Amino acid sequence: MGSAHDGTGVRNLAMAGPAVARDRSSSRRANLGLVLRLLRDDGPRTRTRIADDTGLPKATVSNLTAELLDGGLIREGGTERDRTTVGRPGQSVEIDGTGVHGIGAEINVDYVGLLAVNLKGEVTAEKRVPFDVRAAGPDAVLDATARLIARGAERLRRAGGRVVGVTLATPGTVDLASGTVTYASNIGWSGVRALDGLRRRLGPTAPELHLENDAKLGALAEYVPASADGVRDLVHVTGQTGVGVGIIAGGQLLRGTGGYAGEVGHLRLVPSEQPCACGRRGCWETAVGRDALLRHAADPGDMVWDPMIDVARRLTELRARAQAGDPRTLDALHRIADALAPGIALLVDILNPRLVVLGGHFAFFGEHLLPTVTEQVHDLVMAPDAGGCEIVLSRTGLTATTRGAALLALDAVYRDPTRVMSTG
Ligand SMILES: [Zn+2]
Repeated sequence: MGSAHDGTGVRNLAMAGPAVARDRSSSRRANLGLVLRLLRDDGPRTRTRIADDTGLPKATVSNLTAELLDGGLIREGGTERDRTTVGRPGQSVEIDGTGVHGIGAEINVDYVGLLAVNLKGEVTAEKRVPFDVRAAGPDAVLDATARLIARGAERLRRAGGRVVGVTLATPGTVDLASGTVTYASNIGWSGVRALDGLRRRLGPTAPELHLENDAKLGALAEYVPASADGVRDLVHVTGQTGVGVGIIAGGQLLRGTGGYAGEVGHLRLVPSEQPCACGRRGCWETAVGRDALLRHAADPGDMVWDPMIDVARRLTELRARAQAGDPRTLDALHRIADALAPGIALLVDILNPRLVVLGGHFAFFGEHLLPTVTEQVHDLVMAPDAGGCEIVLSRTGLTATTRGAALLALDAVYRDPTRVMSTG
C-alpha cells in the first residue's frame, strides 16, 4: 500500500476526515483525486502499481489515468519495472499540471507578499512589498493585497496558466467561515472582513478565496517535506514581529475550538516588562519577536529598523554583522536564544513533537541560535533527549506562510481534479 497518499493531503490536514463517495460521479472525482495524491506523495509509478497501491481495479485505473492525461494534470513518464511483476517494464505516469497554480497571499506587520505554486510544487510567482501595515490601516492594505493578487493571477493567466484559488494569510486569530480577521494585535486589526474586502476589489473574476492564520500555514508548508520523512508531529514557530506556532499532531493540523490553538506569543514565559501590541506587558513575543531582536541589535534610525526596506535585506544585514563578529549583534542573538529556549521547552513538554521548526528571522540566524536553544531545551525538558525532538531551521524561511497558503489553495484540485479538467 502507498504510505501517505490517503493521509497527508494538505486539505486533509486542515479539515480532517475522508470524503465519502455518494454516487457514481462523486466516486469518480474521489478516485481521480486519490490517484493524483498518490502520484504527488509517493512519486511516479506504473498503472499496475497504482492499482496495487489504491486497491482500485486495473481497468478503472486505466480510465482514470486517461482522464488525468487528457486534463493535463499528469503525463507519461519513464519506464519502470513493477515491484510486483517479474515481466517487462511498464510505462509510468507522473504529475504534470505545470499550468495549474495556487496563490498564497500574506499580510504581515511590515509587508504584503504573494507566492504561487503549480501542481508540480514549483514556485511560479513570488513577490514581497515592504508596507507599514499597521499605519496604513485595513483599506489601504487590502487595496495593495488585491493589486498584488490581480497582477500575479493576470501574469500566470497570460502565460496560459489557470489559478484555482487564493489563500490569504494573516497573523492573529481568524474566522475561516466568514473570512474575518477577528483579532491581530500586531497589525492593529479587529473584526476586519478581509475576504469580503478582497472579493469586492478583485471583482467577479476573482479566484476562490480562503483565509487562514499565518503560523498554521507555515506549519503546513513545513509538514509537506517532513511528512515524506515519516514525521507526523511537528511544531512550526513563526519568527515575525509577532510569534505564534502552528501545530501538527498525529498528522492533523491542530486548530482548537475557535481556531486559536498555537497563540503562544502572548504568554508570559520569560521575565520581561516590555509593552506588547496586545496592550499587556511581558508577552513572550516582546522577548523573541522581531522588535526585540532589532531593539537589542540597533538604535532607532539604523537601516535595520526601516519598514520600507525589505525585511530579508534588513535581516541579511544583521547576519553580516553577526558573521563579522559585531559584539552588539551577537549579544542581541544570545538574548533571543535565551528567551526562545524556555518557550520551545514548554511546547516540547506539552506536545512531544518529533520536529520543532524555527521560521522567519529565527531561520536567518540558525548558526547563532540553534546550538544554544537546543542545549537549553535538552536541559529544560523533562523527558530524556528532549523526548526525541529535534529542533531544526525552516527550509522555507520567510516564504513558509505564503508557500503553505498556496499549497492549501491547490489542494482543492487534489480533492477534486475535475475542477480544472473540464477545460483541459
Ligand atoms: Zn501580548
